[in-house]
Amino acid sequence: MKVCLIGAGGGIGRQLLKTFSEKHEVTAVYRTLPVTAPEGVVLARFGDDAGLRAAVAGSEVVIHAALDQKSKGKAFTTSNRAVTERLLDLIQPETCRLFVYFSSQVVYAVLDAEKHPVQGEDAVLEDRPGLDAYTKLKLTEEQRVKEVCAAKGIDYLIVRPTVVMGPHMQWSSGIVGAMRMAPFGLKGRTINLIHVADLSEQLLALVERGVKNDIVNLGDLDVTSDEYFRHAAGLAGRPIFFAPGWLTGAAGKAIPSTLWFFAHDVTVASDKVRRLSGVEPHRQLPDFFEPPAKVVVARDLDAVREIATSGKPFHTVGRGYYLWFNDRMSTDQLVMEHYAGVVRQDEGHITVRAGTTLRGVLDHLAPQDLTLATLPEFVDISAGACFFAEVHGSSAEYISVYDLITAIRYMDRAGVEHHSQRNDFEWDRLRASHDIVVTEVTFKTVPNYRLANVIEWHPDSALDEYVAGGYQKNFSTTVHWYPRSRELMVYNVNPLDDAHPKDRGPFAPMRGSPAAMQKLLLSLRLRGRLRIVGDSEQVLAPWTGVPAKEIVGRFFRDGRRRVRNLEVCVPDYHAAKFVEKLRGRLPQMALKAGQGVGVRFTRSASSGRGFVWVEMTSRDASQMHALVEMADEVTGGEYWVHRGKYVPSTVSVDHLFIPRSLGLPLTTAEPKTEESKT
Ligand SMILES: Cc1cc2nc3c(=O)[nH]c(=O)nc-3n(C[C@H](O)[C@H](O)[C@H](O)COP(=O)(O)OP(=O)(O)OC[C@H]3O[C@@H](n4cnc5c(N)ncnc54)[C@H](O)[C@@H]3O)c2cc1C
Repeated sequence: MKVCLIGAGGGIGRQLLKTFSEKHEVTAVYRTLPVTAPEGVVLARFGDDAGLRAAVAGSEVVIHAALDQKSKGKAFTTSNRAVTERLLDLIQPETCRLFVYFSSQVVYAVLDAEKHPVQGEDAVLEDRPGLDAYTKLKLTEEQRVKEVCAAKGIDYLIVRPTVVMGPHMQWSSGIVGAMRMAPFGLKGRTINLIHVADLSEQLLALVERGVKNDIVNLGDLDVTSDEYFRHAAGLAGRPIFFAPGWLTGAAGKAIPSTLWFFAHDVTVASDKVRRLSGVEPHRQLPDFFEPPAKVVVARDLDAVREIATSGKPFHTVGRGYYLWFNDRMSTDQLVMEHYAGVVRQDEGHITVRAGTTLRGVLDHLAPQDLTLATLPEFVDISAGACFFAEVHGSSAEYISVYDLITAIRYMDRAGVEHHSQRNDFEWDRLRASHDIVVTEVTFKTVPNYRLANVIEWHPDSALDEYVAGGYQKNFSTTVHWYPRSRELMVYNVNPLDDAHPKDRGPFAPMRGSPAAMQKLLLSLRLRGRLRIVGDSEQVLAPWTGVPAKEIVGRFFRDGRRRVRNLEVCVPDYHAAKFVEKLRGRLPQMALKAGQGVGVRFTRSASSGRGFVWVEMTSRDASQMHALVEMADEVTGGEYWVHRGKYVPSTVSVDHLFIPRSLGLPLTTAEPKTEESKT
């Protein structure tokens, strides 16, 4: 059977794609094309007229499971109506035998709960006032689908899912997240749950069994709202508070029709789908929720092996800063921070366990008058993270700390630990797949040296000169640009060739703070002195940790409107154009007073490649998305996003690390590693 699935990127669509493509030929239609898709699936973009036409014309079953939730207000209805009309226009009886439309149980919101305590597909849906846009949309579109299909002589199937549950779904993972913030629930309602995997099986069976010109609820288990909320709160680790009866009654009137099942105690019938599809899920309430993610703290390799070989997805955490800026992850977590310590040190190299921080490395090296040749401004960063993220400051000699790594040990998903000497070709592949746990990292070391930082303020027109190559005059140039006050703060860092009475020792300047605060702080700390002078690491990396890390982390991770930090990198030959474009776009980006843009410069002395890094911190994610879009437009796709900071979901893995083996195909490299089971 040839199936065209519209809305393949949505929560339901992704599972439909999985279920249908296992047995049938599927063309998956997306609003934005994904980076990967199941093997054998043909991809199409809804906005590509010819592609969409061909996808629909080439399929005997067309499933419309798309919903534009981004459009708000009137645009919500207009945009969604347009999608459905487009599809109804494209289907033709010569090619399409069945049009499947995803409606919803919300259509029952029109019914009087007193008269209809059980809502079945045969209910007569009288209109009634007080319906929200989503309910009206589904009611209107059900009618349109029936009309158009009848007129064209094409069979239809309308499905009305109940409350859809499953990984990342609003009513399962979402409600558990909500319970962490506000563990409140309503009592005395009946909710019908359907797991997205069962829903897909039900639909597949209905289509394969030839059910047509019919309406079928896709539902499974009735639970009480008491049980449902109590279970979700339990998973969130919070005690549940139920609204008192009088409040539940009063709230019922204010509940939008999309959530009608919280306003009335009614049951949605699910016997028809069982009968027609033959699918009997037998789930109990806990089976509708994701099991709580496991956290494994690695103190030895056995713990790493346990999670690496579990066969389940997991994410590795160094010090965990990337979790501050990105959406919560529901997979198991491997925490590496206690797998730390120096393993060995030989001539010019130091080997540490992956959870060791750069601070730990520097503390070990400093008494021997040794250091690392490039550093970020902040050194509470794990060695393991330096393999995957481009951890950088400003440097005339290295792109990032990654370039100081000469060897690693890592564990693969079979639980085998490998030793791998630097091999750009192989390491690009490892960084792209990110399917390993780095267990040890070897960095090259250099003799310590002294640096001086001269901080200057300029009008922001001076930025162009730095970006055009002026940054190369310094050993390290870091810029903080305040577009609203049109000024630029610049750290000019250079090796020290003299001592001066007007020098002062290193301190941690608050580079991200508003200009006025920054100036005040600098004048208090510098007190007329001109240069900040010290050992290289004290000047390059004045930040050794975050005070009250847990509390600050919670503020970043759990805040209602989260603060995010994103850094985008472009090759220096695109940088002038990128900055020009950014300057032009800034007025529309609505920067807050005091909000600045960090600009850092790195170069690889050995290859002559130069890079400009542009960083923003904001509660407004659209500013960051605009930054990435501009980088993409200006560079034609030759840009990177810092993997240890906010990574928008549209950014694919090839934009998360700068390949060092230029021009070589990544997929064909054979790993040359030595295996060891330790
Ligand atoms: C206050 C502050 C200041 C910062 N300043 C700078 C700066 O000056 N320059 C800069 O470049 N960045 C800076 N960053 C960003 C920082 O580099 C990233 O957040 C980095 O990821 C932090 O390291 P981490 O040990 O917390 O790694 P995590 O954030 O925990 O992990 C980062 C990535 O590495 C992976 N990973 C970590 N360890 C392993 C392992 N052992 N095996 C496999 N994968 C692993 C993770 O899965 C993840 O993809 C700053 C961040 C903060 C919070």
